Amino acid sequence: MFNRSCLVVVGLVFAVISLLSIPGCKLSDIPTGGFQSHSYDLSKLDCKENVFPIVIIGSGPAGLSAGLYGARAKKKTLIIEGSKPGGLLTETSYVENWPGFKAILGKDLMKELKEQAAHFGAQFLDDSVEKVDFSQWPFVISTEDGKTIHALTVIITTGASPTPLNIPGEQEYWGKGVTTCAICDAPFYQNKDVVVVGGGDSAIAEAIQLSPYAKKITILVRKDKMRAAPTNQELLAGHPHVSVMYNVEPKKIVGDDKHVTGIELFNNKDNTTNVMPIDGVFLAIGHKPNTSLFKDIIELDKNGYIVLQGHTQQTSIQGVYAAGDVEDHRYRQAGVAAGSGIKAALDADMFLNEIGVNAEVAARCDQKQLAPVEIMPPLVKHVASLTEFEQQIKEATKPVIVDFYADYCPTCMAMLPHFNAVSQQFKDLAVFISVDIAALPDIASKYFINKIPCILVFKDGSLAGRFNNSMNKSELQQLAAQFVGATPAEK
Ligand code: NDP
Repeated sequence: MFNRSCLVVVGLVFAVISLLSIPGCKLSDIPTGGFQSHSYDLSKLDCKENVFPIVIIGSGPAGLSAGLYGARAKKKTLIIEGSKPGGLLTETSYVENWPGFKAILGKDLMKELKEQAAHFGAQFLDDSVEKVDFSQWPFVISTEDGKTIHALTVIITTGASPTPLNIPGEQEYWGKGVTTCAICDAPFYQNKDVVVVGGGDSAIAEAIQLSPYAKKITILVRKDKMRAAPTNQELLAGHPHVSVMYNVEPKKIVGDDKHVTGIELFNNKDNTTNVMPIDGVFLAIGHKPNTSLFKDIIELDKNGYIVLQGHTQQTSIQGVYAAGDVEDHRYRQAGVAAGSGIKAALDADMFLNEIGVNAEVAARCDQKQLAPVEIMPPLVKHVASLTEFEQQIKEATKPVIVDFYADYCPTCMAMLPHFNAVSQQFKDLAVFISVDIAALPDIASKYFINKIPCILVFKDGSLAGRFNNSMNKSELQQLAAQFVGATPAEK
């Protein structure tokens, strides 16, 4: 016997079934609320080049997991890796909460994920996105290297970047004692006193990373308790030279022009201000989403995170999805990012099936692939000693651009291929040298290298520039152009 509510449910089911049975009616024809949508005319694909059914912007856990699912669903998938291939996880040490691994190095996990996605056919582009145009379909993506890519769907996985403190001295001493990457810079703080600013899980990870090197590590927390997970807080007990100072707010970073010497702290409990003498400041105060490319194009919330529709990874534009830290301010875990990347790829695959992207259409896309990138040998010199290094600088008749790196520094390793590419591009105008600071510590110490990656530029035998940020290819091109007096186009 049916009661009244059963009848209502049955009626609704019939209504949905009949709507879906109208010839030519697909899910995408059902009004989509706040979405912007296009007419998805597959015949347009014939006149376009570099067409990919799925284009993923970003290559952290969300991007690589989306790539794995997209490629495995036999939809040609392109991953545009961005300036930090592998994402922030490459900067952490051991990851202990990735299901299936008791402990795995962040960079190894990302390498495995990349290989798995590539195994199923995902393609990778070592380039960064400069502009997106989602007002037309196929969507148009322009890269810093000047490529134009047409995407039937886009998955945005651009992640988040460390937040700065925005206090006096922070910019001035950036790379001279202020940093956000303990895994890169901890070895420079052997027997030194350092602070880690922040009360979250990142602050604990940074302090533990510093523990084998620094003499004294103080975690500065602005409240009277830490936000970090209790299990992570318990880990600090195993590191007796790590202590936590509560109710302190950093107000200024002070130094002697060359290096940080202290941090001014306001104690919000007793309203006193003191300068704490220290040698290094490691910032771990959270992240902001990397969404500047998408401002005024897709819907963002007041903090800049991408807004999703319902329980999907769909953004405010149909066919454009987002996954990972760029849309998730709540969980911000690698495993969650990977899961959301998978959901985004499933959403994209369903959408592609729905608009009729079948094997025949995919084959048409295949004929208009990206031309294979020509790989040229790098022209970077390696030096074996401080004497040889200084000899090269003295004898050079062109500007000398030096990249200081170490293979334990993921950001440095991500920057090396860009440095090699730029060395090829500017081969007639400058000399390029790379220095492994782990093998040649005397060069690092003589030239005050205390944060890597670091670029020094020498002109006429003298130091002409010092750059402490990790740089993508176009930033390196601009730097080289600035010192050789040319534009990248004139190379
Ligand atoms: P969180 O947002 O969790 O923590 C940021 C910390 O910085 C908070 O303690 C915050 O203080 C403090 N802070 C923010 N602004 C300032 C400021 N201007 N001055 C002083 N202190 C400030 O960021 P995390 O990067 O630590 O973590 C991000 C996410 O990644 C979290 O979900 C975390 O669980 C996860 N994560 C997990 C790890 C693991 O499990 N192994 C490792 C690292 C990160 P307040 O509390 O007062 O707001």
